[in-house]
Amino acid sequence: VGVTAALAGSPSQRSTGALFSLANRVALVTGGHRGIGLEIALGFAEAGAVVYCLDLPSSPDESWRMVQSWAASLPEPNSGRLEYVSGDVTDQKAMWEVVEKIVEKEGRIDVCMANAGIVHVAECLEYPAEDFKRVMDVNVSGVLFTAQAAGQQMERLGIPGSIIMTASMSGTITNPNQHSSAYNISKSAVLQLARSMACELAPKGIRVNTISPGYIYTDMTRSILDTQPQPASLKEKLGAQNPMGRFGRPDELRGAALWLASDGATFCTGSDIKVDGGQCAW
Ligand code: NDP
Repeated sequence: VGVTAALAGSPSQRSTGALFSLANRVALVTGGHRGIGLEIALGFAEAGAVVYCLDLPSSPDESWRMVQSWAASLPEPNSGRLEYVSGDVTDQKAMWEVVEKIVEKEGRIDVCMANAGIVHVAECLEYPAEDFKRVMDVNVSGVLFTAQAAGQQMERLGIPGSIIMTASMSGTITNPNQHSSAYNISKSAVLQLARSMACELAPKGIRVNTISPGYIYTDMTRSILDTQPQPASLKEKLGAQNPMGRFGRPDELRGAALWLASDGATFCTGSDIKVDGGQCAW
């Protein structure tokens, strides 16, 4: 049965362009308004998807204007588009409603990029309880609630969807100067959550994978650098902590995310793709 199923779906029957196309697909990207999430959202839209970028509901008008300006940067002709949606990933009911509305409007959801995340820098012995809880809420519960909402709709609609979670190299290795134990724990949890979900959802045809970025130069990285006593020298050190000797750029996550979202990765589930300049290999 396994051999027959494999032969029946031989990808060699399809062109490479079609394999990586997201035309007629609908995607949700949490934390899709800036940093890594924005670049991934733009990548999905360029590949033809309708992409809903979600962030916190703090300033919807401003966010909508920003999404419109990014949408204008997409190359023409392009069948994809960006849409704005707000919500707090830590609110399970709200995330269900967000995905339900997307499905009501678009008729489907194919790709879910659970990317929103936060960091809080503090030493283990002094880690404030509230900050610890908040990091866990956003980075672990938020990823679960996002993936749950999308996964339930994919299952209901019989869609062979792709759920991608943004983990981190910090889920695998520890950076001594970073003082972000809660963040590291939360990212280890995301890696394990993805593996568990991948096993449960594989029989339903839904794939679940993670991407583990190394240091990528975004607002989050800047916030870590700002808390360090010697920002200038530390910045250099952090950037050099991988074989490539530099920070990554947010756009360097696009390829891995597009591959996992696309039919190019139909036999890939429960995997972690490291995009870290080789840092975890050291
Ligand atoms: P940014 O700080 O630039 O962006 C974080 C995004 O998450 C923002 O859009 C933010 O929305 C959103 N967000 C935060 N909390 C919530 C919430 N409760 N509900 C909805 N949205 C929320 O971070 P990065 O782009 O750097 O990071 C993106 C992901 O990549 C994170 O999961 C991070 O842990 C991970 N990562 C980043 C690395 C790096 O070096 N930058 C390295 C490894 C992993 P808003 O704009 O409204 O605040």
